[in-house]
Amino acid sequence: MNNSFYQQASQTIDSQAIDSQAIDFEFDKQHIWHPYTSMSQAASVTGVHSADGCELTLSSGQKVIDGTSSWWACIHGYNRPEIIEAMQQQLTTLSHVMFGGITHAPAVNLCKQLVAMTSPNLTKVFLADSGSIAVEVAIKMAMQYWQGKQLPQKQRLLTVKRGYHGDTFAAMSVCDPDNGMHTMFSAAVTEHLFSPAPLSVFGEALKQGDTDALEAILAEHHQDIAAIIIEPVMQAAGGMHFYSAEYLSAIRALCNQYNVLLILDEIATGFGRIGKLFAYEYANIEADILCLGKALTGGYISLAATLCSDEVAKGVSDSPAGVFMHGPTFMGNPLACAAASASMSILQTGAWQQQVSDVELQMKTELAEAIDYQHVVDVRVLGAVGVIEMDSVVNTAKLQQDFIELGVWIRPFANVIYITPPYTITKEQLTTLTQAMKTIAANITQEQAAADSFSNG
Ligand code: PLP
Repeated sequence: MNNSFYQQASQTIDSQAIDSQAIDFEFDKQHIWHPYTSMSQAASVTGVHSADGCELTLSSGQKVIDGTSSWWACIHGYNRPEIIEAMQQQLTTLSHVMFGGITHAPAVNLCKQLVAMTSPNLTKVFLADSGSIAVEVAIKMAMQYWQGKQLPQKQRLLTVKRGYHGDTFAAMSVCDPDNGMHTMFSAAVTEHLFSPAPLSVFGEALKQGDTDALEAILAEHHQDIAAIIIEPVMQAAGGMHFYSAEYLSAIRALCNQYNVLLILDEIATGFGRIGKLFAYEYANIEADILCLGKALTGGYISLAATLCSDEVAKGVSDSPAGVFMHGPTFMGNPLACAAASASMSILQTGAWQQQVSDVELQMKTELAEAIDYQHVVDVRVLGAVGVIEMDSVVNTAKLQQDFIELGVWIRPFANVIYITPPYTITKEQLTTLTQAMKTIAANITQEQAAADSFSNG
């Protein structure tokens, strides 16, 4: 065993006072993986020292306006006293305790809030560790449900192309089969059923024939299909596409017709991001199983949740296992539940509605002109999501540096330059973000359009 690193590291720890805020970039480069990066090629990473409101303070001392809400999670901005106080109090009371055979107030309080906020049929909550795990849990629930209903052959999943549901194996299996990771892990990724991505765009009626392919798959395979899983209204990491609410209601109707469960993955859309508290409200429908994550804790700590109906829970309990077969070590972590509960209380004040609608209106006004730029193919805004779609894939690493020079943190992916700012962003900060997006989009050249990394956003 090569102990040199260990010795070196322990010497460093012994001999130096640890300044937890100083970043050893060389160590980071040599030893730490960042999302979707190679250890052979240095990833482009920016040091962050702290964050407050809608600003990140970089390790260089520069302040930048955060256009991402840290991958759409930090909806109330950084350093919210309500969330910090709730976490501080929880930290000194009960930071963690196992959930097997034990319960605690932070979990119960949070689940009460989630049951009250979501559609009336969703009464049971499974607290998961991250978005991908919430999706794994949803899939397992659907499979066990049909075992309990004496239809154990119903174990396949149906979804639409261009979806993204996470990076764990079951989640990967329902991500877009062409742009996702199916081919890389084909030996272990289950083959599910895919229909084309929705063509009907948000705000318009369902295009004739748009659900035909999906219905044909249901007609042929419904005896084997456990559930349809879909991101409601917005396909997020698949390119920030907004599709017709009528498409979603048509899917709900088809699920009923063909005796298939509907799993809605609201991990990106949940908690107001696209203008409704939950995207399914646009279609006036209920899910059988609902996945939540990202903004659940206001982006302060990892936590996700999978909710289901009484009917689904009963089916799971009637399955041969007799119990739901999942139970992670950090399930229902009190610290995360306390953060989430505080985040939900902020949402329950209702202020987010005006904030998101103001952000939407301002982005619509300020981004509109970008449609005339040479390499722009679409400009779209829904709720607090603003998108400039380019005609080819952009260079994420280069553009994120260019954005920093413009005083903002924006991380494009594929051919999409987008922002998902905190709902608390000020008018001036938002103008800085939209201005930066336009500057970059206007000046982009075809040569810049190089796919430098796989990214979920
Ligand atoms: N589902 C959707 C719709 C997402 O957008 C994401 C992440 O981007 C996930 C699931 C996976 O969540 P996580 O990255 O927390 O595992």
